[in-house]
Amino acid sequence: MSYNVAIDGPAGAGKSTIARAVARRRNLIYVDTGAMYRAMALFMLRERVDPGDADAVGRKCQEADITIRYENGEQVVYLNGENVTPLLRTEEVGNMASLTSAQPAVRRKLVELQQTLARESDCIMDGRDIGTCVLPDAQVKIYLTASSQVRARRRFDELTARGEKCDLARIRADIEERDDRDMHRETSPLRQAEDAVLVDSSEMTVEEVIDRILEICEKSPR
Ligand code: C5P
Repeated sequence: MSYNVAIDGPAGAGKSTIARAVARRRNLIYVDTGAMYRAMALFMLRERVDPGDADAVGRKCQEADITIRYENGEQVVYLNGENVTPLLRTEEVGNMASLTSAQPAVRRKLVELQQTLARESDCIMDGRDIGTCVLPDAQVKIYLTASSQVRARRRFDELTARGEKCDLARIRADIEERDDRDMHRETSPLRQAEDAVLVDSSEMTVEEVIDRILEICEKSPR
């Protein structure tokens, strides 16, 4: 049986940074499920699909072939054969992903892909519903969060460092809107699994969070 670590939490909690570091230290594959929802969102943006139209999204998502490969230890996402990885981490795609990911047809398709990856390899997978829906039997479950103020600040610093012009108040409003949508949608809302360990990183450094999560993993070794 494979060894699976699930990390869920709201946008900007630092899940991908932490999961990538823990993967390296524990020799696990890092599976970024947000990138899959983002690739699907990019497809819907390109096809000009209304994200609220369940029938249209359901039909269109059958035309999107999303595959994952690992190149130099990094996850690379292909959309109908095109490497779209560099196009996924924009606010536009993130906001669209939060809308289209609420559609059951999109979730069915991507959850199946995620479960196959987790069956085939020892991995740490991050997202919103990993501990509750995708991998209910994961050996380790973590719910990583931070205040919306801290999360907005981190995203602002990240975008500014990349040379993107942005507004802190706008980012915070977007984050809060996305949290609200992710937590209150009908299908697989974001919530802490009963058996997940809560880690609030608001007052912690990245190194402290990594150490805390490695410590939690030690308690349920492979
Ligand atoms: O984590 P990231 O910001 O890349 O995710 C983008 C969006 O994809 C989230 O706002 C959420 O709506 C959706 N998502 C999801 N389930 C996951 C991962 C991401 O619904 N497991």
